Amino acid sequence: MYSKIVILTFPREVAQKALVCQLTRKYDLLFNILSAKISNKKEGYMVLEISSVSRAAFNKGVNFLKEQGVSVSSPEHRIYKDEEICTHCGACTAVCPTEALYIKRPQMEVIFDQEKCSVCELCVVTCPTRAMGLFSAETQDVA
Ligand code: SF4
Ligand code: SF4
Repeated sequence: MYSKIVILTFPREVAQKALVCQLTRKYDLLFNILSAKISNKKEGYMVLEISSVSRAAFNKGVNFLKEQGVSVSSPEHRIYKDEEICTHCGACTAVCPTEALYIKRPQMEVIFDQEKCSVCELCVVTCPTRAMGLFSAETQDVA
């Protein structure tokens, strides 16, 4: 079994299409949606774990998505949150498109769930204390 986490970005024109469901119907792939959101600009973001019987089957499904105009990427970098610097102001949660950053209530603590992060870097430029940052991670090709 081959399994991989990928980040899909759907342009406005295809954001409403049920393309991901076709991965199962047409290409026999299994998927687990880790996170999904549509931005104000109507673009769609989705973090998926895709499983298939082989790398070749995975590639066919990914190529199908790309042909439909979907951007498919694998994070070359990862985001970190420096807990010693974070003041839990919440500014990053307002811009995070995948809800990887959220406020835990009633403690009102800002939590970072790296599994949901699409590495869009919006939090990095938004954080007033520079608690959010980028570090290099292992690179993997996507189809
Ligand atoms: S914007 Fe920065 S300081 Fe504010 S909660 Fe997010 S990580 Fe913490
Ligand atoms: S880079 Fe920051 S804003 Fe973007 S998905 Fe990850 S945690 Fe959210």
